[in-house]
Amino acid sequence: MDRVRRIFFASNMRKTTFLKLKVREASFISRALLSTRHPVLAHLIPMRRCNLACGYCNEYDHTSKPIDLEIVKGRLNKLADLGTAIVTISGGEPMMHPELDQIIQHIRSRGMIAGLISNGYYFTPERIKRLNKAGLEYLQISIDNVEPDEVSRKSLRVLDKKLRYLSEYADFHVNINSVIGGGIKNPEDALSVARRAVELGFSTTVGVIHDSDGTLKPLSAREKDIFQQVKKLGNKDHARLNWFQDSIAEGKPYNWRCRAGARYLYICEEGLVHWCSQQRGYPGIPLDQYTMEDFDREYKTEKWCAATCTLQCVHQVGILDNWRDPQKTPAQMAEEQKSGKGVGEMIGAD
Ligand code: SF4
Ligand code: SF4
Repeated sequence: MDRVRRIFFASNMRKTTFLKLKVREASFISRALLSTRHPVLAHLIPMRRCNLACGYCNEYDHTSKPIDLEIVKGRLNKLADLGTAIVTISGGEPMMHPELDQIIQHIRSRGMIAGLISNGYYFTPERIKRLNKAGLEYLQISIDNVEPDEVSRKSLRVLDKKLRYLSEYADFHVNINSVIGGGIKNPEDALSVARRAVELGFSTTVGVIHDSDGTLKPLSAREKDIFQQVKKLGNKDHARLNWFQDSIAEGKPYNWRCRAGARYLYICEEGLVHWCSQQRGYPGIPLDQYTMEDFDREYKTEKWCAATCTLQCVHQVGILDNWRDPQKTPAQMAEEQKSGKGVGEMIGAD
């Protein structure tokens, strides 16, 4: 097949897959609105190893081995049994896992939506075709800048060839995320990344990040202008779901209810459940021992880091329940547990 026909065919396949994905998402959203008692999204780490070493990242090493396929399948079975709707494989760099295709197949075989977050370095036509066959439904690549620098090599110039392969061969939905704030040298890069993504037929989102010391600072006037331009290029659904970014862009805290540990789960390479990549150790319980009691407690626990949190996917999951079930501080939860009240009574769980 010549290149033009391949791009046309891949783009039509992507539209069909995207529509099917939207229908499945709509049914999962209805289920999530009807019942609060299952996880909506889980991030699963099958490998902490990464081929890169981004300056801001604390989620990788250069030595660890891939987690055995049967162990990963056991974790996926548990997530399916809990009623999880979407599993996103993340890392480290998950494309380095030698059995990634079987992991994706297993997610699909258990009726969950299969997503992947990657730095993009390992995409070849052959590898993309295998991911199509495995049943991958969406992919997100974050691109930090146009030219590589000492902080990040997730750069448009380095990855452009990979993006062209994806445009030509991928049947799955591709989203390109750019970033702004946090002292990123050239805010204009986010606009170049977003424009290239749209040109290649992908959706695009933009993440607002904290300063390198973790403080929340308003974006400069130039950054705000670029942020608005990138948002206009992006997926309207994402823009609607990411109101919190407007507060973060102004350097203001955002009031919401983070449901990490319940509706959103982060499963590290050791199989422990954490609130998220940034709050490892809470609650730090092995997934195979995670019960609905743990789920209920975390659902109702207010997270001290919520006001300045920039994790888009956890915010989006939070929207489903923001209007219901007020939360309590960890101290109030501990006090009530000491007083001997059952979890159901404490939180009025449905
Ligand atoms: S590519 Fe991703 S996991 Fe690897 S170092 Fe960079 S941000 Fe971390
Ligand atoms: S508020 Fe953000 S940083 Fe804190 S637990 Fe939730 S997702 Fe993690």
